[in-house]
Amino acid sequence: MGTEVLEERKKSILTKDFCCSGDGSGISCEKASVSGSVSQRACVYCGARVVLNPITDAYHIVHGPIGCASYTWDIRGSLTSGSTIFRNSFSTDLRERDVIFGGAKKLTAAIDEIVQQESPRLIFVYATCIVGVIGDDVEAVCREAEEKYGIRVIAVKAPGFSGTKTLGYKMACNALMQLIRPHAGQVDKTKRHGINILGDFNLAGEMWIIQNYFKHIGIDVISTFTGDASYDTLIKAPTAALNIVQCAGSSAYLANEMEEEFGIPFLKVSFFGVEDTTNSLLRVAYAIGDAKTIRLTEEFTSSESGKAELFLKKYRPHLEGRRAAIYVGGGFKAISLIRQFNEMGIRTVVVGTQTGKQEDYEVIRTLVDEDTVILDDANPAELERFMQEQHADILVGGVKERPLAYKLGIAFCDHNHERKHALGGYEGVRNFTQEINLSINSPVWECLRPAAGL
Ligand code: SF4
Repeated sequence: MGTEVLEERKKSILTKDFCCSGDGSGISCEKASVSGSVSQRACVYCGARVVLNPITDAYHIVHGPIGCASYTWDIRGSLTSGSTIFRNSFSTDLRERDVIFGGAKKLTAAIDEIVQQESPRLIFVYATCIVGVIGDDVEAVCREAEEKYGIRVIAVKAPGFSGTKTLGYKMACNALMQLIRPHAGQVDKTKRHGINILGDFNLAGEMWIIQNYFKHIGIDVISTFTGDASYDTLIKAPTAALNIVQCAGSSAYLANEMEEEFGIPFLKVSFFGVEDTTNSLLRVAYAIGDAKTIRLTEEFTSSESGKAELFLKKYRPHLEGRRAAIYVGGGFKAISLIRQFNEMGIRTVVVGTQTGKQEDYEVIRTLVDEDTVILDDANPAELERFMQEQHADILVGGVKERPLAYKLGIAFCDHNHERKHALGGYEGVRNFTQEINLSINSPVWECLRPAAGL
């Protein structure tokens, strides 16, 4: 018998023993975490930082205690082809005295110092938990700085306690809208062309892989949100004819806003796995491509997916019948990973997300076996219990999940922001398959599990 699941959590877990609804609908999700359950979710501020941090020439001032500023490029390794300033964190380093007397003056001084020393064009100011408590008027400080210096200084009101990571995504999307809105009025809608890529953060250079595909098939990429983005590229976004959304959890809200305000339609895509990459490229070509683009895309996807299939065929005998657990941020990635594991002959026996939506869980239910455990906003105890009960051979997750797997003698693959090689596109299929094969078939697990009494 594994760890007991908290009564309030049972509505968010779908198993054959206790389930919310037989068809997978009705799972409790998109809600605040249960108090005391030790959620794996990050805070609102972290959610906002995830989306905005990859803008390479932006300055990020974290208005709060120094601890909040530790969430920086070091744990979100997006790559850049331009400025490297985004790899730094700037903090107002609020102390007890500031909590008592207010931190607005310190924030003004921090902005002044950056302007004098660095000549920025774009600054984001994050209001963290303590700022939400003491009530500094961050927006007023930012407005004053914009007027004084003629640059963009955008407040991101993201106290960690004010909701979930999903709210942080929304705050970041609002900040991006604030940045690009003034540039939308000058756009001639009849001349719109090309695409914006939303929800890709250029981890291990994945944005460049996808951009190369579009270059090959003759579709211009206007702006990228926000992997390898800059002030100059972002403000061109309203000139695009179509938005494509890779990480829907973080960027679907921005796509909706851009559709509503600028009239740019959007498509949800995924570049993880052969099937999803091929389908995504074809859907974009059919949506805005001419006959030549469509022909090129069909040829390209057919040739690349053929090569990837041959590659997978080589590895399948080593992976067939193995059992995977997945715990990732959003539903869209979980769905792509299940499909990818199916392509490799691996069964997904546990699958969960931090911020999945009802419709994501309904799709997940159709892709997995009846006895697969599905969880929303899981905690470490639940993940450990179900990985053991389901005899998972590998866990795919992020940095917070890594020790859970290793402690149990289970292989691990980082599919989050610390990954060092690209997992997107056809190149990513090769990297991912090789990594899964090396990890799952490592002899170390044979030694570790008996030693840990597992
Ligand atoms: S929860 Fe609050 S204090 Fe902690 S990192 Fe987030 S904003 Fe900072």
